[in-house]
Amino acid sequence: MDEKLEPIFDEVLRRNPGEPEFHQAVREVLLSLGPVVAKHPEFAERKIIERICEPERQIIFRVPWIDDTGQVRINRGFRVEFNSALGPYKGGLRFHPSVNLGIVKFLGFEQIFKNALTELPIGGAKGGSDFDPKGRSRDEVMRFCQSFMTELYRHLGEYTDVPAGDIGVGTREIGYLFGQYKRITNRYESGVLTGKGIEWGGALVRTEATGYGAVFFLREMLKARGDDIADRTCLVSGSGNVALYAIEKIHQLGGRVVACSDSAGVVHDPKGIDLELLKQVKEVERGRIADYAGRRGHDATYLAGGNIWDIPCDVALPCATQNELTGRDAATLVGNGCIAVSEGANMPTTPEGVDVLLDAGIAYGPGKAANAGGVATSALEMQQNASRDRWSFEATEARLAEIMTHIHDLCFATAEEYGAPGNYVTGANIAGFQRVAHAMVALGLV
Ligand code: GLU
Repeated sequence: MDEKLEPIFDEVLRRNPGEPEFHQAVREVLLSLGPVVAKHPEFAERKIIERICEPERQIIFRVPWIDDTGQVRINRGFRVEFNSALGPYKGGLRFHPSVNLGIVKFLGFEQIFKNALTELPIGGAKGGSDFDPKGRSRDEVMRFCQSFMTELYRHLGEYTDVPAGDIGVGTREIGYLFGQYKRITNRYESGVLTGKGIEWGGALVRTEATGYGAVFFLREMLKARGDDIADRTCLVSGSGNVALYAIEKIHQLGGRVVACSDSAGVVHDPKGIDLELLKQVKEVERGRIADYAGRRGHDATYLAGGNIWDIPCDVALPCATQNELTGRDAATLVGNGCIAVSEGANMPTTPEGVDVLLDAGIAYGPGKAANAGGVATSALEMQQNASRDRWSFEATEARLAEIMTHIHDLCFATAEEYGAPGNYVTGANIAGFQRVAHAMVALGLV
């Protein structure tokens, strides 16, 4: 790390104890910024980096609710409004037992730069709760969402803060959250949440956008190397929203996804995942991939507790969660001849894993660039809400593809400019940071 940045990082460690994921996310960005601070003395003078590392506002609240047996339950809710230099706070809500302040801060920090890379007017935020939706009934999820919004609504607004989904929060939960917001405020304020159902203010392609976007980014990385996705054997970890639509787009482009996973195990399906069956199990029945393997028959094997990265592939898309791909996994991928990794999840590769992939010189698209398609399409949803308009699937998908190509080209060109050709980590960090930093200088000491 540049010696000017080391004391800033030490201060982040000192002021944010016990938040390893947040430290990891900050460190990864600061490692790229040496040449930027050398070129722009005004950033140091205005303490831009110190300010970017400190959230503008952090909200932590109690979420009481009643389960189906009549018992009182208490969870903790979070919203970290990290940076609004470029637009209203924007970023998802995650409901998962692993959620704590450090996780929300890492996600919010990543979101600042990701959103900046889209070049759309959105600031960075993240929120959620340690509520575990697994095994909860529809009514329990609804009561939880209503209680969560009863506190959070006062901090939101289409010009203030616009949440969306993330792990554990999909269209159903956004519906319950939106319904409660509407009831409390007496405003049909469509632009206050994104990821809405298409019948009530949502946008076509938002559901598909993160997965599709990660594949569009992959396509651009391969194109830059004179290659493409057709006939490539692919691994997609996870089996949630991002994974499902990454699989769909890979299949549309002629690649073959031979495995996916959940927290319990891995499905290996050498003939290619049957996406209709997987969607039925995951989206309709809210089941586990073990059920998929059982119904797919002898073509597919289920590996309880297995590691998806041990399966040989040409291309890997980590679409599950943070730190799911380790240094050892990265070495296995490289050893098996993998040529590209495009991250649909947020920070899925550990720092050791990133080093292995970069050292091997394979095409590596970090999440803050490769998975920006979801939030970019949220911004398109906000545009449609603001103009009370509705765009076609084709037009919206074309716009998403254009945005992903632009993010790729921006990261590629920035990496070249700063002497790290082909390094999308450097390109994404510097390009995203510069946009926010220039806006923060222009807005004065805010
Ligand atoms: N949770 C998604 C992300 O990680 C989407 C956020 C949004 O659409 O606001 O970028």
